[in-house]
Amino acid sequence: MSRPPSVDALARALSAQVDLPHPLLVDVARAAIAEGVVDEAPARARALARTLLTPVVNATGVLLHTNLGRAPLAHSQQARPQTVEFDLATGERGSRQRAVGQLLARLTGAEAAMVVNNNAAAVLLAVAALAGGRQVLVSRGESVEIGGAFRVPEVTEQGGAQLVDVGTTNRTRLADYRRALTRRGADVAMVLKVHPSNYRVEGFVEDTPVAQLATLEVPVVADIGSGLIDAACPWLPTGAPAWLADEPAARQTLAAGAALVTFSTDKLFGGPQGGVIAGRADLVTACARHPLARALRPGGLVLGALQEVCLTYLRKQAGALPFWRMVAPSSGALRARATAIVAAAERGEIVDTLALPGAGSAPGVGMASVGIVLDGDHLASLRAHDPPVIARVREGRTVLDLRSVDPDDDTMVARALRHCR
Ligand SMILES: *Cc1c(COP(=O)(O)O)cnc(C)c1O
Repeated sequence: MSRPPSVDALARALSAQVDLPHPLLVDVARAAIAEGVVDEAPARARALARTLLTPVVNATGVLLHTNLGRAPLAHSQQARPQTVEFDLATGERGSRQRAVGQLLARLTGAEAAMVVNNNAAAVLLAVAALAGGRQVLVSRGESVEIGGAFRVPEVTEQGGAQLVDVGTTNRTRLADYRRALTRRGADVAMVLKVHPSNYRVEGFVEDTPVAQLATLEVPVVADIGSGLIDAACPWLPTGAPAWLADEPAARQTLAAGAALVTFSTDKLFGGPQGGVIAGRADLVTACARHPLARALRPGGLVLGALQEVCLTYLRKQAGALPFWRMVAPSSGALRARATAIVAAAERGEIVDTLALPGAGSAPGVGMASVGIVLDGDHLASLRAHDPPVIARVREGRTVLDLRSVDPDDDTMVARALRHCR
């Protein structure tokens, strides 16, 4: 038997094959030598590289895939200090929330708005600031859990408030809220209305619209979830698509009388991960002054990206955001792309599919789409491609849905398809 290579020599040899920093390759080399499996070192180094954040092609047909970071977005900014908390007019310290807050307020028709790290944080902060030590009315039909362990009763509890169940699982009327308010009086600080997102009760159901809740004496906080800004989608040439019909929008929810709305910025809004609180100025100020706001505040990179997205909406160019660009094409356009990909790959069959918005948006509805199908399960081989292509298996066949694929990536999809095992 030949002597094993030195750790350093093996790490250097690995660096020719895998682009990782030397200390990480040294770890791989040391472990492989210690275990007597030097031959496995290159595969281990590649496996380690694949644990890092990696850009992929999303061919799942789920446009906002939480595992793939929801809305795709490009953003670049200069490596310069920026006015995150600096007021250029006075030269004094400024508010971190001012730049993006004013744009979000303008977009949603709110008096004021602020940004935190995600929508779970937005709801938590709104409850803590408005209802800490007091009670929050929530319909039994809206006391839900939404993906990733966002549970309304637990968030309310963490916000230091007591949740009061109102109505029944399937029907809650204004009279139910009124009765709870009359019985509990000043202990009740607010009504929390939650869009059930990825959950739906059908049949004998009734909920109380925001316009009715707004007649109560306490503020209504509406967690609309997805961050659809305007139900009319004026940024799309064809207006609002049918699958958005039941999705609450920030502008209309505030106009209906919600004191505050909260939503994610990486769902239908199409931006980076963040959460928005928008509505009455006094209530937004109360949220911003709460001690939790400091722990939940976003950094300059996120604020910079959000500012860009807000300006894009205000320019009525949101159709150019990567998320809305996935929504726009007709099935005919997707079919033409599929035909070209199948021709280049010399493989695959074209089928009609149903793409989904994802991330709990517009539950139970999809968009007509087009996919390319291969017999058998090729998921692992597609994931091993550079860049990885993420697809789905349906009834024993691999489906690559084109609605969630950027057209610029079609040649890579064709290459992955051609070479996959
Ligand atoms: C998605 C969603 C949340 C959680 O939002 P995150 O940004 O993921 O924290 C909360 N409420 C509703 C209604 C949602 O749809």
